[in-house]
Amino acid sequence: MTAPLVAITGWCRRLDGLERAGVNAGYVRSVARAGGIPLVVPPSQAAGPVAALLDRVDALVLTGGADIDPRHYGQTPSPRLQRPDPARDELELALLRGARDRGIPVLGVCRGLQLINVGLGGTLWQDLPSERPGAVNHDPDQPRDARVHTVRVQPDSLLCDIIGTTSLETNSIHHQAIRDLAPSLRETAWADDGVIEGIEARDSAGWLVGVQWHPEEFAAQPDAADQRVFASLVQAAGERRGLSAVPGRPPRWERAPGRSPG
Ligand code: MN
Repeated sequence: MTAPLVAITGWCRRLDGLERAGVNAGYVRSVARAGGIPLVVPPSQAAGPVAALLDRVDALVLTGGADIDPRHYGQTPSPRLQRPDPARDELELALLRGARDRGIPVLGVCRGLQLINVGLGGTLWQDLPSERPGAVNHDPDQPRDARVHTVRVQPDSLLCDIIGTTSLETNSIHHQAIRDLAPSLRETAWADDGVIEGIEARDSAGWLVGVQWHPEEFAAQPDAADQRVFASLVQAAGERRGLSAVPGRPPRWERAPGRSPG
């Protein structure tokens, strides 16, 4: 069996006086542990090869990072906005749309969840503390793998099927969040203050999961529910390409395309 090839979106930035391209290693480790072959795709000046790339990969991970330019969802930038990365926004929006057209499984993490929502027509809170203050601190001064708040998961959801629980403690490293949900998406998880922490697709155009927390930061804890998010992505990628014959029930996104909202 050939392992699925998983595109992981990366960044270009200047570090220690040198422009570098990369991604946080937790994504690479989590995909590899799940049986996928990680392929880091940083933004570059040439956006043309998106279609050629998508013809060759079996899954897409949209990773965490800087704020999306609010012009992509019809707003003007808040003074608290982090500096956007136009090349990365363009690349990831093109990858998302192309992946959905092809039925390629998509996992969005943090900014990746937000990008899915924006790409499909939704909007964001540009700065939670000032625009939507609540009881939960979503960006506490804690290590990236500190489980700092509770997430409640919709029982009838792909996410719940994957992680096997309706409640878990997560890390939280974000100052933005989904405001208006895109019409083709469904909420699947929430923090105690109502902030959306999980999404999936309403349609049957392929596996799609977004989480607002960072499951890749628990790559060193292979038994964690977080690792099952990556395992499910890689399994869906393999099934789409017919790389493995999995007996039993068809996947959820083929079983129940018309479910009611959560
Ligand atoms: Mn959070």
